[in-house]
Amino acid sequence: MIYYLGLGANLGDREKNLRAAIDRIKKISGVKLLKISSFYETAAWGVENQPDFINAAVKISTELEPLKILDAVQKIELELGRVRKEHWGARTIDIDILLVDALKINLPRLKIPHPYLYERDFVLVPLSEIFPELRFNLHGEKILRVCGSPNDFNLKIIACVDKNFGLGFKNQLLFKIPADLKNFRALTLNNTIIFGRKTLETFPQGKPLDSRRNIILSRTLEKTDGAEIVRSVDELFDTLDAAEKNFVVGGAQIFEELLPYVGEIFLTTVDAEKPADAFFPRLENFDLIDAKIFAGAPNFEIRKYRRR
Ligand code: ADP
Ligand code: MG
Repeated sequence: MIYYLGLGANLGDREKNLRAAIDRIKKISGVKLLKISSFYETAAWGVENQPDFINAAVKISTELEPLKILDAVQKIELELGRVRKEHWGARTIDIDILLVDALKINLPRLKIPHPYLYERDFVLVPLSEIFPELRFNLHGEKILRVCGSPNDFNLKIIACVDKNFGLGFKNQLLFKIPADLKNFRALTLNNTIIFGRKTLETFPQGKPLDSRRNIILSRTLEKTDGAEIVRSVDELFDTLDAAEKNFVVGGAQIFEELLPYVGEIFLTTVDAEKPADAFFPRLENFDLIDAKIFAGAPNFEIRKYRRR
């Protein structure tokens, strides 16, 4: 089933609350996070005299029943410090289920589609960004797209795969093609690269790469000379500079984890098939916008994809 969830926060560090909630939604077992909208600043609705909200929407896929998802998101609301006081009142985080496939549900605890969905621009605007087919009318509420949303972190992926989207085998890359490595260096030099612990081991001497800001996303790695270590996606977004180009360079698990936040992908696709045990995640919602063909043994293409 495809679910669309709406998120809002108007207390504390609102963007951080939203990112923490999204991080937890992604970690609900059996849930796959597919899309995240930009973050929007909106005036409080229903009850006057409270701080502005930041709102966003996410698209997930899961086989979990709607009431199970409601339980899970209400648990996240509580964990993130929401105190249920007044209806429509100020809150550190509010997570609503907006749509579930074409389902209609009318239980005391759960109404789908969300009863106020079509009345609230602050829900419709972020939702329409990740669900462009949705038909609706806006009501002229003031809504401002703000910086600091995951989409604004200028996150890109660079990877090299074989015909079957294989990335690696036994912690080794499948290919080391000089012209491709040259392209990797040209793109990343003086920018930021982000990678996991196992990818560090594939670098020359197992060391961070020169002349680039190296950020390692790892829950276990100790201090490493020449690199910064972040423990979570949230910590990564706290430290990233959106004015820089930020390249995610591996491995498979890190690609999977960060793909929802990535806007552009440089995918070197080699015309060969090799045994592999790590694969590039499935590309949905990306368009192929450019391909440079290189002749060699084997031939390869540097393909550029952009988020639709
Ligand atoms: P609101 O989101 O309208 O500001 P709350 O977050 O306090 O208000 O939710 C009030 C109640 O709405 C919850 O206890 C929940 O059981 C119920 N509810 C009904 N339908 C939904 C839905 N689609 N998504 C989330 N909560 C819902
Ligand atoms: Mg709610």
